[in-house]
Amino acid sequence: MKIWSISNQKGGVGKTTSVVSLGGLLAAQGHRVLLVDLDPHGSLTSYFGQDPDGLDRSLYHLFFEQRWRNVDYIRDTLKPTSLDNVAMLPATTSLATLERQVSGQDGMGLVLARSLAQLWDDYDYALLDTPPILGVLLVNALAACQQLVIPTQTEHLALKGLERMVHTLKMVMKSQKRELPYTIVPTLFDRRTSASLTSLKEMRRTYQGSLWDEAIPVDTRLRDASHQGIFPHQLDAETRGVRAYRHLLSHLHKGES
Ligand code: ADP
Ligand code: MG
Repeated sequence: MKIWSISNQKGGVGKTTSVVSLGGLLAAQGHRVLLVDLDPHGSLTSYFGQDPDGLDRSLYHLFFEQRWRNVDYIRDTLKPTSLDNVAMLPATTSLATLERQVSGQDGMGLVLARSLAQLWDDYDYALLDTPPILGVLLVNALAACQQLVIPTQTEHLALKGLERMVHTLKMVMKSQKRELPYTIVPTLFDRRTSASLTSLKEMRRTYQGSLWDEAIPVDTRLRDASHQGIFPHQLDAETRGVRAYRHLLSHLHKGES
């Protein structure tokens, strides 16, 4: 199983949209895909019509009573999406209390990695939608994944968030004693605004080696798909946003080997 974490400590930068778009395109290539919602807001969970306040099982529950050891429990926690070969491990809002409940306990940073290891033969890819704060959930994601995708909105304030994210990443990598390749992905790019153009230039200057050399454009079809609870390519496979995510996917595939 290949595990990619889609992370940024800033909200509203296109993390969930990237998880859904890339996941859908991987599925269209014939892969079996698991989408994991680590965000207590549960936007990914809601995207596919599940209520993060109403579910009685979620990622949260795997942290207790060693349920991550129980593959049947994990499989029963998964929810379907609008594609047969894509499942979702949902979030519940209780994830917001996880930090307080498990902090300081041994092994809590590895619950997701261990849960995914149980599903190793079930899926080809797992995409992790992470919360915007550095805490036990982001640590779990970074410990589980093999590469990191950092969506970054092309506007000035987002660059600060990016700086913080890269700093966090380096800190966590140091404590986990490993290297994690990462790709910065400019999102919500609007070529008509100078804010988009200047911040893209700035990103190119600062993050040259790790920056994807294209950008995800603003595309309202991506939002339309989210309102219908379907993958963007199911709504329109040739819309600009989907085409850009297809390019991004082939770029990420190249980095896999
Ligand atoms: P995050 O998960 O980082 O908080 P989202 O993926 O939820 O960000 O995106 C925030 C909002 O912007 C959502 O309403 C989403 O539909 C919209 N959005 C994301 N990417 C695009 C895009 N490329 N074009 C238009 N709208 C987008
Ligand atoms: Mg989100």
